[in-house]
Amino acid sequence: MRIKILGSAAGGGFPQWNCACANCRRLREGTFRGRARTQTQIAFCPDPDAKVWFLVCASPDLRAQVLATLELAPQPNEETQSLIAGVFLPSADVDSVMGLLHLREFQSFFVFAAAAVQRILKKENKIFGVLDRAAPPVQWQVLSSKGRLGCHLSESPGEAPAFVCVTMPLGGSFPDYVSEELQRNLSPDEAAVGFMFEQKGKSVFIAPSLSGRTPEWTKAAASSDLVLIDGTFWSDDELVKTGRSKKTAREIGHLPLSGAEGLLEQFPANTRGRKVLIHINNTNPILDEDSPEHRAALDAGFEIAYDGMEFEL
Ligand SMILES: [Zn+2]
Repeated sequence: MRIKILGSAAGGGFPQWNCACANCRRLREGTFRGRARTQTQIAFCPDPDAKVWFLVCASPDLRAQVLATLELAPQPNEETQSLIAGVFLPSADVDSVMGLLHLREFQSFFVFAAAAVQRILKKENKIFGVLDRAAPPVQWQVLSSKGRLGCHLSESPGEAPAFVCVTMPLGGSFPDYVSEELQRNLSPDEAAVGFMFEQKGKSVFIAPSLSGRTPEWTKAAASSDLVLIDGTFWSDDELVKTGRSKKTAREIGHLPLSGAEGLLEQFPANTRGRKVLIHINNTNPILDEDSPEHRAALDAGFEIAYDGMEFEL
């Protein structure tokens, strides 16, 4: 399995258009040692021979990210043109679903999402109905918040799945834009799910938004060969300190990296796989390669994702 990070920043990207925090300001001024980043987007190719790719999240930057990735270029002789066969949605957050609108050009593909996420997108946000114009239309597949789904690349009967998608609830909340009435009728477990993709005895665990309110993630993180995990905030009060919000990281569903019971402390010890921080907010000091926080994350055994980072499992 080949995995490519097309975007590694949290919502807003880095720099963010309306942000003058120390990181964004210094990056614009050219005095920052670190990279600009687009909003979190992951792509994986389960089988190079089949030339098929799947996306995890549908980022607001998706169009530019696809154009910047030659492996995703449409093929003139393929019946379906695009090599993107499906999109896995971890939540209904704007940053995870907005990119679906970039994929609206009469292209059929699969969307894998929990029933709650599908209801939000179809019931209260009819703009996503634009995907139905393709012939055949985009095919919505229901993911259980706690389940295993075998994914096939062809319709040959009896063929083993090309990979398995394991889902688990991550304890997040539904986005603010969802009406209270609808939220009351949705399963809270479906607000944010983590994905473990398994293939040929190897696995990657993906959780760009991790609240830390449920325990299921630690087992997946401990057993995977590669972990792409929430690196949004360094400290719980980061948005308050930088004047970006009155809410803490935990209040908006992100386990901060540092501090008591932060991600660095809670991450299982002695794991065998690579651990990579992704979905990094523009205020996060780990983006600054000269900062002590950047050093501390590396010393704790984590890598810091950047756009274009690749992995082979
Ligand atoms: Zn900023």
